[in-house]
Amino acid sequence: MGSIIIVGAGQAGASLAAKLRSLGHAGPVTLIGEEPVAPYQRPPLSKAYLSGEAGLYRLFLRSASFWNEHDIALRVGVRVESIDPDKKTVTLESEEILAYDQLALTTGSRPRILPAALGGQLKNVFAVRTLAHIDAMAANFRKGARALIVGGGYIGLEAAAVAAKLGLDVTVIEAAPRILQRVAAPETSDYFRRLHAGHKVTIVEGIGLTRLLGEREVTGALLSDGREIEADLAIVGIGIEPDVRLAAGAGLTVDNGICTDEFGRTSDPAIWAAGDCASFPHLGRRIRLESVGNAIDQAEHVAENMMGGGKSYQAKPWFWSDQYETKLQIAGLNTGYDRVVSRVGPDEALSIWYYAGSRLLAVDAMNDARAYMVGKRLIEQNRSPDQADVVDLGIDLKSLLK
Ligand code: FAD
Repeated sequence: MGSIIIVGAGQAGASLAAKLRSLGHAGPVTLIGEEPVAPYQRPPLSKAYLSGEAGLYRLFLRSASFWNEHDIALRVGVRVESIDPDKKTVTLESEEILAYDQLALTTGSRPRILPAALGGQLKNVFAVRTLAHIDAMAANFRKGARALIVGGGYIGLEAAAVAAKLGLDVTVIEAAPRILQRVAAPETSDYFRRLHAGHKVTIVEGIGLTRLLGEREVTGALLSDGREIEADLAIVGIGIEPDVRLAAGAGLTVDNGICTDEFGRTSDPAIWAAGDCASFPHLGRRIRLESVGNAIDQAEHVAENMMGGGKSYQAKPWFWSDQYETKLQIAGLNTGYDRVVSRVGPDEALSIWYYAGSRLLAVDAMNDARAYMVGKRLIEQNRSPDQADVVDLGIDLKSLLK
């Protein structure tokens, strides 16, 4: 196996490096990350870290001493500029060249940004991806400030929830007919629209951003219906793109992510990929997942396969989002659903069950850990409960597992 280089020191890269050591890989492991900080988890960035409830130390994936103790050469604040697959080398920004026997790409994804022509370069316009983005944004979270959130996906809504909790005056604009349209059924959108309305967040749907307004810093926005709204800061949550720049530059096959086979190997047999940046085969099609669960599981599979494991990766998609006191947990992938059924519980509990015909695909569970747990197990076992049983509150969900 020899020398292994991992590019991207995020969730997947850190998991891969640690797994290599726990599996007994004895050769050199180098983990290289562009951000000037040790590997950290991103989910709290738009939740407890942004709200100030969790300090920086809670974000780190490993203790500061872990990397040395496990003989992992962690190089942060270092960007890999290119790969030469023939020579099996990577070149750093500093022009230093490092040789590998096997290379793993865990380069994650990059937020889509607003072009300068739409005001994306103005001061007080923030993306939501890195610690640096959140630190810059949080410094502007003053009570009474007017925050405009562009994009009503999970990341934008989480930022909206924190801003509203901290006393900012929040407006979310979503160009699609409804928030969460890309990822959830109308019933889930309705739940979160109501939740935010209850916290005085204004949600504008079906209306796009024409451009942000302001000379040097943002002062407002012109919307596609001609309306102008005032803002002291803007948060742009309009999706992410897999970071395939290195892979594409090296001539690897790329299609909505760095293409891998079921083992995590790219079109170059010495190069592997995992996490947000990787597109891989799943139930007869090619998918890419943007979640912590996938980043960890896939990276650990790749580590095993780099060591000759030959284990194919079976993704078990799951995701969560925290907004105010509501915990959303998602099991499965709802792509291709043609019907949903809802189970309405007490205390704002609601679960939305996605089916294709009679086949259960996914569950969105709001404040309902049991629905999530049962749904996840059923999906993993490829079992589909009767839809009438799911909505029947007289039936204990756990009995569906028997
Ligand atoms: P990343 O964590 O993005 O790490 C990739 C790293 O590679 C980056 O640090 C990048 O700088 C580095 N890199 C890229 N190119 C180079 C290069 N050429 N040289 C050196 N370094 C490079 N998921 C959930 O499941 N639940 C949640 O609630 C949730 N909330 C989220 C909230 C926020 C605000 C964000 C941003 C994400 C959230 N996610 C959540 C998604 C989750 O964090 C990602 O899916 C996960 O971080 C992916 O891990 P990764 O290692 O693939 O990529």
